[in-house]
Amino acid sequence: MPILAANWKMYKTVAEAEVWLGAVAGRPELELAEVVVFPPLTALHVLRGSGLGLGAQDVGWATEGAFTGMVSAPQLRDAGCAYALVAHSERRRYAGEDDRMAARKIAALWQAGLTPVYCVGEDAAERAAGQGEARLRLQVDTVLDSLGDELGGRLVIAYEPVWAIGSGTPATAEQAGEALALIRERVVGRCGGAAAARLSLLYGGSTSPASAGGFMEQPIIDGLLVGSASLDANSFLAMLEVMVHA
Ligand code: PEP
Repeated sequence: MPILAANWKMYKTVAEAEVWLGAVAGRPELELAEVVVFPPLTALHVLRGSGLGLGAQDVGWATEGAFTGMVSAPQLRDAGCAYALVAHSERRRYAGEDDRMAARKIAALWQAGLTPVYCVGEDAAERAAGQGEARLRLQVDTVLDSLGDELGGRLVIAYEPVWAIGSGTPATAEQAGEALALIRERVVGRCGGAAAARLSLLYGGSTSPASAGGFMEQPIIDGLLVGSASLDANSFLAMLEVMVHA
């Protein structure tokens, strides 16, 4: 089944989330994909029990304690989450998250039985300097170095080139496929063939109903992580439609 992950970022009030869910719930296509919504924490309860997968946009690396503002993996599970984004490029940019912190968050999620969606990708300057691959290798290897040679649970890695996110111009399907092949090679090379069964690979960055089909034609791409095109229920459903029939 293809994976359609919707990152709402810091958008939508409770009432807006209810309207979105009203338009989406009950659609038969939902049965044909692994759909996961990452709403703001304030709207998690709206989607809980809806049948859609539920995720948080961030997670604390500690389990509990005096960490003002952090929400832990067990707390997210308690709120109905089965997934969390880790090291989204906006967290890297605005909250100073790095690969080592990402590794701690992934470990915390696995310990609580949640699935991490680890976001990696080079920025425009790195790409222009021909350092895109090196950046990806570092982002993946740093996490694997810290986590050890076995995956402690399911791992979803989203290739989200920073230059594509929110720009209106996605990477080409071929570029995404090449980057994900490199990522897969790093993980399987390190953790062995058994890890492949626990690994899912997404592309994210300015995808739309028009571009979704091309990405899904790449055999290595298991699904899409979608920002702006997921906010409007009609465009989200149009993407879902394309993906389940690709
Ligand atoms: C994202 O931020 O994860 C994302 C993919 O955003 P957009 O689709 O808006 O580029």
